[in-house]
Amino acid sequence: MLVANIWIEHPILKIDKTFSYLADGFILSKGIRVKVSFNKQTLIGFVDEVVDSHLTLDQFEKVNGFCLKPIVEVIDEKTLITDELYDLGKWMAHHTISPHIACYQTMLPAKLNIRSSSKKIKYEEYAHYIHDNVNMTIKQKAALTSLKTKDVLLAKLRKEHGYGVVKALLDKECISIYQIEARYKPRLNDELSEHQVLTADQKNAYDQINDSEKDIILLHGATGSGKTEIYLHLAQDAIDLGKQVLILVPEIALTPQMVERVSSRFGDQVAIYHSALNDQEKYEQFKRVEEQNVAVVVGTRSAAFMPFKRLGLIVMDEEHDHSYKQDRKPCYHCRDVVIKRAQYHRCKVVLGSATPSLESYARALKGVYQLVELPKRINDQALPKCHVIDIRPYLKQGIKTILTPPIQSAIKDRLALQQQVILLLNRRGYTPIQQCLDCDHVMTCPDCDVAMNYHKDIDHLVCHTCGKMIRADHVCPICGGRQWLSMGYGTQKLEEELYRTYKGVRVLRMDADTTSYKHAHKRILDDFGAHKADILVGTQMIAKGLDYPLVTLVGVLSADATLARDDFRAVETTFDLIVQASGRSGRGIDVGEVMIQAFDPNHYAIKAASNHDYKRFYAHEMQYRHAGGYPPYTFLISIIFSANNLDILNKAVYDLADQIKVDRSLKVLGPSPLYKIFKRQRLRLVIKGKDLGSMIVSVKNYIDHFIDINHNIDVLIDVDPSRLD
Ligand code: ADP
Ligand code: ZN
Repeated sequence: MLVANIWIEHPILKIDKTFSYLADGFILSKGIRVKVSFNKQTLIGFVDEVVDSHLTLDQFEKVNGFCLKPIVEVIDEKTLITDELYDLGKWMAHHTISPHIACYQTMLPAKLNIRSSSKKIKYEEYAHYIHDNVNMTIKQKAALTSLKTKDVLLAKLRKEHGYGVVKALLDKECISIYQIEARYKPRLNDELSEHQVLTADQKNAYDQINDSEKDIILLHGATGSGKTEIYLHLAQDAIDLGKQVLILVPEIALTPQMVERVSSRFGDQVAIYHSALNDQEKYEQFKRVEEQNVAVVVGTRSAAFMPFKRLGLIVMDEEHDHSYKQDRKPCYHCRDVVIKRAQYHRCKVVLGSATPSLESYARALKGVYQLVELPKRINDQALPKCHVIDIRPYLKQGIKTILTPPIQSAIKDRLALQQQVILLLNRRGYTPIQQCLDCDHVMTCPDCDVAMNYHKDIDHLVCHTCGKMIRADHVCPICGGRQWLSMGYGTQKLEEELYRTYKGVRVLRMDADTTSYKHAHKRILDDFGAHKADILVGTQMIAKGLDYPLVTLVGVLSADATLARDDFRAVETTFDLIVQASGRSGRGIDVGEVMIQAFDPNHYAIKAASNHDYKRFYAHEMQYRHAGGYPPYTFLISIIFSANNLDILNKAVYDLADQIKVDRSLKVLGPSPLYKIFKRQRLRLVIKGKDLGSMIVSVKNYIDHFIDINHNIDVLIDVDPSRLD
């Protein structure tokens, strides 16, 4: 008999194991979804393997102690999980210490997911010409003629020629109808453009990449040094060999120019894949890739799992970006996934950035990756000139505005010259802190223990963690007072201040509040690109990839705000953000300028960023990482435990920490309390070590046991966390 081992997702089942079912009479292979009965419910599962057992049903029951139940129903005829992806799922489950089912769910588009059989695959009906008939009306003839050269969507035919006409043609058997699965076709550039001729510097970098014996290349190139053009040339080479290309970007909405450039070169051979597509669109993009109707995929993190058959190149642009790391289960890093895929396909991976992650740069210096450098902007265009402005003297003078006098006058000058300005303020809302005038209590979210932000447009306080809203005229929960002092600056207040300061100025704001509807990013960026606004204000969203030639001033208004975060990567993140934001300035004919406002202008991250000096920053930061024993000198595994009851949580996690501490092979930090979110209390343990492989094995053992006995505690494991705050 045939026995299928099946992964099942069940809310109370935290154990990572398969269950066996009788598969006789079904055609199954790994990755196919099936319905099975489990605890009197019908659940959806996912075939891991089918084994031919020499036992009979009775013998099986005797040996295993339970009776093998038959599979209820098979959902898919075929699976999109190739052998490669199947193995990748196993690898990912091990390396991220996550249940297999969570990995396969992450890899597959929702339509094919293990939870969602009800979501049907969408079909489209087409009309097909069979033959003429002598007894036809003029209208029927016209409709039939339109089908002679190509099949037409039935709905379209009915709309153009009338329902009755189509019915008559069907009755006369002049046409037939067939169904095919719908295929998403993105509306991309119709006009194709030629590749640009590489400059000498670009050609040199391109040759180094091609000649390298190493498969992973770190392309460290300044902002505007022409990295993208190199990617496009490499992509063309791969396509010429009949291979597929994957180009990863941190966020599609924030990198419209990348999508535009790729599609203007490769036309309808391009697929775009990102989280804002709906389920049907995602599924169809998957199918297009699988059917090899696509040569280039431009996508975000999740595009790393598409069913490529012949990958010839993977590009990961802005490789340092944190959005490449998933912060929910399974906490995988896209870089690790694509490197694994490249090994399978024997293709090159190009990691590109102006501010590489310290890990990648360290690997490049060690010779694990090939380092290719492109230090200058294209055609010797100057990098923008940076000025660091100390905020403190102005505060002492009693100046309350966030725009210090030097930046105010610089903005005025640009406006007079009809040039554009980008201002980065990494906090949305109107003011971030509301303090009670009577008792000094700072208003926090009742569910999350974080300060609530005032949003003037809706006149409410908003929790940026859980979205909870409270009326602005609320009563102080401590003293009953009703008067509040609003402190700090968010993007809304900045926008208001710009309108007040510069008469007739046109301002666009880009943050999570203005970009919540579909195509919002594109509309804002298109308007800014068409010079319908003078100033673009925004959070870190505006620091990525934008290339607008009229922008000659970038202001980083609160450069050291991110330094305060309690996280070993806070300094690196600050440096990246300043360099990336600066990179938006002076990309046209006029020389660019950058003004960086800070409370600590002498901080090495700010100094190095203002000098565009990555190497200096790297050297300095690596000393700190070495002294503190942080990555890339060590590996970390973060484990966050959460529960409603703090006493139960404390007891369980302290017990676990004590157990692990006895085990001399692992170094444990914590438990440290994290602020509560969504009413859940949280504690974290951090495991530190030099040998990630053995750390993973040990942590998995401890946590499997922990989960077994602590049903009310959720555990989120993050191997190699991208941040720890
Ligand atoms: P990066 O990706 O490093 O930020 P880009 O590839 O976007 O740099 O190049 C910066 C600018 O220079 C773009 O406007 C691009 O069109 C232009 N550019 C890049 N390469 C060339 C080239 N070989 N010839 C002419 N213009 C180029
Ligand atoms: Zn909240």
